[in-house]
Amino acid sequence: MLQDIDTLIVGAGFAGAVSARLLAEKGEKVLVVDKRNHIGGNCFDKIDFATGALIHMYGPHLFHTDNPEVWDFVSHFADMEVYEHRVKANIDGKLASLPFNLETLYEVFPNTVAMEMEIMLTESFGYGENVTILDLKKQKEPQLEFLANYIYDKVFVNYTMKQWGLGPEDIDKEVTARVPVRINRDSRYFTDRYQGVPIYGYTKLFENILDHDNIHILLNTPASDVLEIKSNKTYIFGKEFKGKVIYTGGIDALFNYEYKPLPYRSVFMEFEVFGKDRYQEAATVNYPNNFDFTRITEFKHIHKTFGKKDVTIILKEYPIAYEANKTEPYYPMFTKEAKAAYKKYEAKAKKVKNLILLGRLAEYKYYDMDDIIARAMEKVSSL
Ligand SMILES: Cc1cc2nc3c(=O)[nH]c(=O)nc-3n(C[C@H](O)[C@H](O)[C@H](O)COP(=O)(O)OP(=O)(O)OC[C@H]3O[C@@H](n4cnc5c(N)ncnc54)[C@H](O)[C@@H]3O)c2cc1C
Repeated sequence: MLQDIDTLIVGAGFAGAVSARLLAEKGEKVLVVDKRNHIGGNCFDKIDFATGALIHMYGPHLFHTDNPEVWDFVSHFADMEVYEHRVKANIDGKLASLPFNLETLYEVFPNTVAMEMEIMLTESFGYGENVTILDLKKQKEPQLEFLANYIYDKVFVNYTMKQWGLGPEDIDKEVTARVPVRINRDSRYFTDRYQGVPIYGYTKLFENILDHDNIHILLNTPASDVLEIKSNKTYIFGKEFKGKVIYTGGIDALFNYEYKPLPYRSVFMEFEVFGKDRYQEAATVNYPNNFDFTRITEFKHIHKTFGKKDVTIILKEYPIAYEANKTEPYYPMFTKEAKAAYKKYEAKAKKVKNLILLGRLAEYKYYDMDDIIARAMEKVSSL
């Protein structure tokens, strides 16, 4: 079997699956291994038995892109249904649309105050502009400074502290300053040209992508069961392998955590079922200032064709510390030390000529789904 393989791919998320498909179409024989018992990586979804809802097991995944090639690719393998995500924040018991925009003013302030602020914002910046809270603070009107502080205090700072496990003093001022306010009435969370979800879910999309005679998949198979790197050469099942290895798993695990595990923030996902048709009025509600979870997502809003009547399922996301091999690595922590450790791993990987690092774990970067599909397309076309 080994002599037939042209490329070994570690990981069956978007990075691995898209690469596998494109290589298979070029005529290459591809072996895909994943340590989990399912394909789809963090986009994996399934039907919940109790409620009939389609749930995203690793957090809500909404597809959005400005890249027509990427949209064509996913639309080729799945019927995409138009879906525009809406997020609200629970602020002092009221639901406020995010990102903060002119509609939000009327949701959180009395009408007359909201109206005055709207006039000031449109006169100062022009309708349709995006401004940052730093720019708001620089304006002479005290009401605009008040608004900037309000958004910082009520929407941004506590959410960020919960998400990253930081104290307020550790929150990067540059990031804070960039929090945007939209001077328009667009309450959609994303503004990309193409937005949607696969009608029958991401897992079905991945099944279709991977359904090719040249692709062979082994689940429940960690890379270490198959792949070994010795003296900058790759070995599969103990034999030297001169084909390509596309590695989309954790780069630290690949090198046995030689420079310590790379730091991540993890999330505990708690699903809860309720005996009513709907739990909340938006797909996602953020809780910046109360509770230990950051947000609640109700899947019936996202996949409307799934779900029984009078019962619903929600997901609460609790950010937690990450421990290698115990909790899931979700968000890379971009500290100086982490970046330096990544560079050391990357330098080691570069010495292995047939090894290609691709994906959020191997590249230690936060990528949206469309970014990673575009990267996989680019990478494969360069091979
Ligand atoms: C909570 C959350 C919500 C998100 N929501 C969105 C969203 O709404 N829209 C959006 O565009 N993006 C979203 N993303 C980003 C999206 O999840 C990523 O872009 C995408 O998963 C990246 O694909 P990948 O293939 O690089 O990684 P993954 O999907 O993580 O796939 C990597 C695969 O490699 C396997 N693997 C790892 N190590 C090994 C090993 N040693 N051996 C064998 N297999 C291994 C893993 O089991 C996994 O299946 C979200 C991310 C998070 C964390």
